[in-house]
Amino acid sequence: MKSVDQHPRSVLEKAPFWVVKIYPGDIGTKGGLVINEFGQVMRVNDTPLEGLYACGNSTASVMGSTYPSAGGTVGPAMVFAYIAMTHLATTRSRAGSTSITA
Ligand SMILES: Cc1cc2nc3c(=O)[nH]c(=O)nc-3n(C[C@H](O)[C@H](O)[C@H](O)COP(=O)(O)OP(=O)(O)OC[C@H]3O[C@@H](n4cnc5c(N)ncnc54)[C@H](O)[C@@H]3O)c2cc1C
Repeated sequence: MKSVDQHPRSVLEKAPFWVVKIYPGDIGTKGGLVINEFGQVMRVNDTPLEGLYACGNSTASVMGSTYPSAGGTVGPAMVFAYIAMTHLATTRSRAGSTSITA
């Protein structure tokens, strides 16, 4: 096996140079859209955006920055998809509309 010193190295000499900060995270996203208990996307003023639902990696994890175990992302994604569709179907049949109002 070669040591690090035996490998040829490339020197970056020509600008422009671009830098990207990389932060490690466990499997799922650690940010994203904030949803309520019905899967509705929330506005910054903490009110639901009627007619817009989200789940899975597009949303902030219900477990914050942790990943407790296998299934910790797919599980909530499937459950919140079910909850969201159930809520949509219920409110749609009540209101007769699914239009998004910002
Ligand atoms: C290596 C690895 C291992 C994992 N193991 C586990 C595990 O054991 N258990 C567990 O619970 N979770 C696990 N996960 C996490 C799990 O796979 C994800 O949380 C889950 O797949 C997220 O599902 P999603 O539908 O929200 O997003 P995704 O599966 O990312 O689906 C999003 C879809 O949208 C598509 N898309 C993106 N942009 C656009 C666009 N502009 N227009 C149209 N389509 C678009 C993408 O192509 C993709 O098909 C693992 C993830 C990785 C990477």
